Amino acid sequence: MAIVDDTASTLVDLQRDAAAPNIVKFQLNAAQVFIVNQNWDGLEAYLAEFFAEIQGKKFFFHPGLFCSLYQAQISDLIGKKLFVEARAVFDEKVEPLLDQVKDDLYKPFDLEDRVGMLRHYVNICLPPPADEVEDMHVVLSDYMMLYFPTSLLGEVNRTNSISDFVMTFNDEKGKHHRCLACQWVMPVSATSMSIVHHIKHSKQVNQCRRVTKWMLGYLAYVNGEKEVDIQGMTASSMTQSRKRKALSPPLTPPILDQQSVVIPVELALQIYSDLCTNNLLALSALKNDNTLWAAEAKEILLRQEKVISELKGLFVSSMQKHAPLGSTLAFMKIRTLCDLSDDLFTLLKNLPNVSELLLKQDNKVNELRRCFMVAAAERLPPTAPADKGRAGAGSTSPSTSSESISSKLRPLGPV
Ligand SMILES: [Zn+2]
Repeated sequence: MAIVDDTASTLVDLQRDAAAPNIVKFQLNAAQVFIVNQNWDGLEAYLAEFFAEIQGKKFFFHPGLFCSLYQAQISDLIGKKLFVEARAVFDEKVEPLLDQVKDDLYKPFDLEDRVGMLRHYVNICLPPPADEVEDMHVVLSDYMMLYFPTSLLGEVNRTNSISDFVMTFNDEKGKHHRCLACQWVMPVSATSMSIVHHIKHSKQVNQCRRVTKWMLGYLAYVNGEKEVDIQGMTASSMTQSRKRKALSPPLTPPILDQQSVVIPVELALQIYSDLCTNNLLALSALKNDNTLWAAEAKEILLRQEKVISELKGLFVSSMQKHAPLGSTLAFMKIRTLCDLSDDLFTLLKNLPNVSELLLKQDNKVNELRRCFMVAAAERLPPTAPADKGRAGAGSTSPSTSSESISSKLRPLGPV
């Protein structure tokens, strides 16, 4: 992942800002009152005010932190069966986080995945599973410690070492280090190299899913200095007194490459077109059916219709930018379509008149997903020596590799 040139200058500016005499304080206690009272709107307003004050003209949106906040809010609303309100938070606040591409200095690596995950749970009206639940107290204080340490600790300079990326804490099992970005807990014996691997994703295990461009820039900056061995790190008295609860290591989801894959355009658009038509035909066939089963199926088809429309927007946008259609975000939308299709499973036997259309819909969703999967398998590993013809196809020309990919797409069988 390349570091943009302006990252280093921004880092210097941020450090200069942090050294300014009027330090903006983050009132952790006030924020924690909002969390305890589940006053998410209040916390959102407080954070917006804090960022405006501490950043001044250099305003960044910090979408990762707000995504965590909205996730907590959505989980609460779904838990209270306020499904309409949960969807409104998703539509009005979570989805727009993906549009803030200009200010991507603090955009976490997993933002698209998290938005996709939240969309899924809003769609099925269930709160995110336990392994996705975050402790907002920890997320918030870790975030401030990583990006705005002086707002918590006063006039404390960064150590300009790898220790700026972690905090050390004690619990009943002993001493541990925790990544301030993703809350991955590592043994006290972990070396600074393992943190570097974690941040840079240079090993397959324990990759930091919340890594940002800022972190990579700062890592490059501190790597030019003498590194402190992480085993020698000690927690400051203030961090110990906070007694933050240690989180178990978050499960690492399959991390999607941020780059697009080159899907065969004509085939994908034909499948997309069939999917669109089929969705309308199924809705039309159900319109006079007043059974509970039909109502549920219609609800699912309408949600699919919304995702299908969003997918069209992504395809059109890619075409305008002369970029491959197979973006990670488009794939996430297809995964949502697959999940929604799975929800038809228990309804099919009760809807004999439209079951054929619903099965066809499921088939089209899977065909589209398979386009992406096969294209992803076709991609050269980034470190492999580039074969000129294929490298060209992988960058800007979406149609040249269609033939080889199409040949790998096998029919899924008759419907
Ligand atoms: Zn991490």
